[in-house]
Amino acid sequence: MERKFPDSLIEEDEFSRFDRRDNVFGRVKHDEEAPFFRQGIYSRIDRVLDKEENYSSFELARAIGGWSVYDYFTEAFEPKTPDHSNNIMDKPILTPPSRDPEVLTREVKQAALDYGASLVGVTEVDKRWVYKTDRDGNPVDHLLDYDYAVVMIVPIELAPIRKSPGFPAARASAVSYSKMAFLISCLSEFIRRLGYRAAPMGNDGALSIPLAVDAGLGRLGRNGLLITSELGSCVKICKVFTNMELLEDDPVDTPLLSQCYSCKLCARACEVDAISEKTEPETGRACPSNNEGIFRWPVDHYSCYQFWLENGSDCSSCIAACPFTPN
Ligand code: SF4
Ligand code: SF4
Repeated sequence: MERKFPDSLIEEDEFSRFDRRDNVFGRVKHDEEAPFFRQGIYSRIDRVLDKEENYSSFELARAIGGWSVYDYFTEAFEPKTPDHSNNIMDKPILTPPSRDPEVLTREVKQAALDYGASLVGVTEVDKRWVYKTDRDGNPVDHLLDYDYAVVMIVPIELAPIRKSPGFPAARASAVSYSKMAFLISCLSEFIRRLGYRAAPMGNDGALSIPLAVDAGLGRLGRNGLLITSELGSCVKICKVFTNMELLEDDPVDTPLLSQCYSCKLCARACEVDAISEKTEPETGRACPSNNEGIFRWPVDHYSCYQFWLENGSDCSSCIAACPFTPN
C-alpha cells in the first residue's frame, strides 16, 4: 500500500512496531523496574475516597459500573466470534447483493453509525501500526493479514470531562470504553454475516491514533491524543480490521495539528508536567513507554500514570483544556 502517514515523520532506523508490554499498563503488569509495578489504578484510593464531592463512593461506583461491558465482554476485543451465544435462533450467513467496494463501504459506514459511532473512516492498514505483541508478549501477527481498517469514533460525555480530575470524568471515559465494546462487536458481526472476516479492537491490536489519522478522522495533538474537528480529543477510538474490499478515505493533509506548535494549553493544564512544552516535535522519548522514531510531542506516561494513582482515577484535564474540545 501507499503509506499515508508521511515518511518524513518517521525515522525508519529508530522506529519499530510497538510492543504493547511497553505501555504503562503492560509495565504495571510485567515491568519490575517501573515505579508503579503491580499498582492498579485504585491501589491508593483511600487517599481520595469520600474526601470531596468528585471523589465520592457513589461516583466511583458509577465509574466502575461504566466499565462493565468493556470488562466482561472479552470477545469484543478478540478477533474471533463469540462461541457461547445463548440465542436459540440460527442466524444465516448472507450473500451481499453487491460486492462493489463503493456499495460495501457505504453499508459498513452506515452500520457503524447505526450502532453508535459518531464518526467513521476507512483506511488500508499500514502494517507499521500493528503491535508487535499484545500486553502479555504474544505476537499479534495474524492482524497483518487484514487489508482494511474501519476506524470509529465514540464520543465521551463532555460535562463530566470538564470536572476532571475526579470520578465523574473517569465514569464518562469508562462508559465510552463500554460503548466501544458494543460498537465493534456489532460491526464485526455485521461484516461476518456478509461472509467476510472481521477483527474487532479497542486499544488492543494496533495503534488507534495513526489509523484514525490515516482514515481522515483527525490529527495528532500535543496532548498525545487524536484531535477531531468535531469533538476535539473528547473521543475514544476503536476499529475493526477486515478483508472486505472497501474504499479508503483521504487522510488529513498534516498528521500533526498545526495549532499545537504555538498553543500549549494542555501542557499548562497538566499538574505533573507530563506534556511537552517544546515548540518542535521530536522523535525521542519522554519515558520508557514512548515508541521511538515518530516525530510528535512525546507525553511522559510515567508521570501521567503516577498522577492517576494519586488521584484514584484516570484524568482528562488535557482534554478539558484543549480549545478544540467543544463547550
Ligand atoms: S491525563 Fe492528566 S496527568 Fe495525564 S497528561 Fe493529561 S493532564 Fe497530564
Ligand atoms: S490544548 Fe492546544 S497544544 Fe494541546 S492539543 Fe489542544 S490545540 Fe494542541
